[in-house]
Amino acid sequence: MNPFIYQSLPTRVVFGWGKLSALAEEIERLGARRALILTTPEQQGLGEQVAALLGERAAGIYPKAVMHVPLEVAQAARVEAARLDADCCVAIGGGSTIGLGKAIAMDSGLPIVAVPTTYAGSEMTPIYGLTENRLKKTGRDSRVLPKTVIYDPQLTLTLPAQISACSGMNAMAHAVEALYAQDANPIIGFMAEESIRSLAQSLPGVVDNPEDPDARAQALYGAWLAGICLGSVGMALHHKLCHTLGGTFNLPHAQAHAIVLPHAAHYNREAAAGPLQRAARALGGSEASEVGALLYALNQKLGIPLALEDIGFPANGPAEAAQIACASPYYNPRPFEQAPIEALLNRALKGQAPA
Ligand code: NAD
Repeated sequence: MNPFIYQSLPTRVVFGWGKLSALAEEIERLGARRALILTTPEQQGLGEQVAALLGERAAGIYPKAVMHVPLEVAQAARVEAARLDADCCVAIGGGSTIGLGKAIAMDSGLPIVAVPTTYAGSEMTPIYGLTENRLKKTGRDSRVLPKTVIYDPQLTLTLPAQISACSGMNAMAHAVEALYAQDANPIIGFMAEESIRSLAQSLPGVVDNPEDPDARAQALYGAWLAGICLGSVGMALHHKLCHTLGGTFNLPHAQAHAIVLPHAAHYNREAAAGPLQRAARALGGSEASEVGALLYALNQKLGIPLALEDIGFPANGPAEAAQIACASPYYNPRPFEQAPIEALLNRALKGQAPA
C-alpha cells in the first residue's frame, strides 16, 4: 500500500429533507445572534423566507451574489456585514453565493453557515475565488471553510433540469479527479467512488422528474461527497482546463465541466488505469479505457449540450487554451502534452466522443 496523509474536514454537516428548519438552532450552536443572509438576486425570495425563519437572528439580506465573486461585490458585502454588525453569514444558494460568504469570511473571520442549493461543492472546501480586472484568483484559506453546512434536498427541487444535470456533472468531475489526485488517499477514494455511483444513478431521475424527492436526495448526497473530495485533495488536468475555459474564455462553469470531463478522464486512462477502473465500475462499466465513453454517454442521457462551440468557445480556442494550460500545469498522472491536449479540446469543441 502507498503511504498517505488524510486529514478530515472540521465542518459540521446536517443532511435531510426539510432540514432548513434547523438553521436557527445551528446558528445558535455557533454562538451567533445576527446573521447576514446572502443570496443571488434570483434567489432573494428564498433569502426572505430564511429571514422570516430566523426572526430577530436575521441582521439583514444581501441579495447581490454573482458568478466568480467580483472584488467590488465582495467589498460592498463586507461593508454591509460590518454596518449591520453581523456575527455570522448564512450563504444560501450555489457556488456563487457561497463564494461571496467566503470573501466576507476571509476578511472578517465571520463564520459561514452554508445552505447549498446546487451540486457545485464549494461549501465543503477551503478554496476561495475573487475576480479583479477580469482575472480570477483562487487560493486556500481555512477561514473560508463553512463551519456548518445544511443539505436540504427540498431546496434543490426548483433547480431546473438542465442546470441540475450540468451541476451534477461538475460534482462528478471533483470525484473522478480525486481518484487520481497526487495526494489521493483510501478514505477519499471510497468517498469518490460512492459519489460517482450516487450521481450516475440519481441524475437521470432528476432530469426526468426534477421534483423526484429520492433522486434529489441521492444527487445531493453524491454532491456532498464530491465536495469533500474537492476540499481534501488536489486537482489535475480536468480542473486546469476548466479554469482556463472559465477564466480566459468566460465559458459557463458547470457546462464546461460537464463537456470536458469525459475527454480529460480519457486522456488519463492509461496513466491512472487503477483509479479510473474504480470510476468505470461506479459508472456501470469495468475498464479504465471505457471511462471517457461512459461519461460521454451519461452526458448524452442527461441531454447536456456536448460541444464547447455551443457555449461560446471559439474555433481558435483549443490551441490557445492548450498553450495556457501547459504553461502552468497542475499535477496530472499523465504529463501535460500540448498537442494531445489541443486535440482533446478540438473534439470537445465539436461535441465528439473522446478518442
Ligand atoms: P451559481 O451559484 O452561479 O448558480 C447559478 C444560478 O442558479 C444562480 O442564478 C442561482 O441563483 C440559481 N440557483 C441556484 N440554486 C437554485 C435552485 N435550487 N433553484 C433555482 N435556482 C437556483 O452556480 P454554481 O454552479 O453553483 O456555482 C458556480 C460558481 O461557484 C463558480 O464561480 C465556481 O468557480 C464556484 N465554485 C467554487 C468552488 C470552490 O470550492 N471554491 C467549488 C465549485 C464551484
